[in-house]
Amino acid sequence: MSNNKAFFFDRDGVLNKAIIKNGKPYPPKNLLELEIEKFSKEIIIFLKKLNYKIFVFTNQPDVSRKTIKKKDAVKINNFIKKKLQIDELFVCYCSVNSCFRRKPNPGMIYEAKKKWDINLKKSFVVGDRFKDIEAGANAGVMTIYINKSYKEKKPHNSNFVIKSLKEIKKIIKQENEKFKN
Ligand SMILES: [Mg+2]
Repeated sequence: MSNNKAFFFDRDGVLNKAIIKNGKPYPPKNLLELEIEKFSKEIIIFLKKLNYKIFVFTNQPDVSRKTIKKKDAVKINNFIKKKLQIDELFVCYCSVNSCFRRKPNPGMIYEAKKKWDINLKKSFVVGDRFKDIEAGANAGVMTIYINKSYKEKKPHNSNFVIKSLKEIKKIIKQENEKFKN
């Protein structure tokens, strides 16, 4: 069994600010609308020191719906990858729920597991929406829900609930204590 562990971050509303309309989160449409969240970089540096691989897994269905240009979505992804030193981004552009890569399905997590030989039981998903947490649960990964108080269905089965990315440090320290005992 592999010892490689990973963090799977959702993108919008987690690593960068979502655009909020009527209480619901939407992706930035282009680089001009992109704003990185305050603690993203700090948390990723912290996790890399602990040997976690850092992945982004993101649904971008607005590309299929043609309300966001693919080249703008790619520019945002490339910017985030470089700025936050992400090991790999996994992106699903589909808008059909039957797509196995589209969250809440676990396809993108399985893809990373296979490619990077990741032990999912030692890994975490971080997301701000129901579909992120479901995808993590479906793949057997521990889940951290960032509650941004959107006006939409919330997940009830996450392993942890936080308000800010900086709380991840506390969670990891607690988890490491458990393994020592
Ligand atoms: Mg999100």
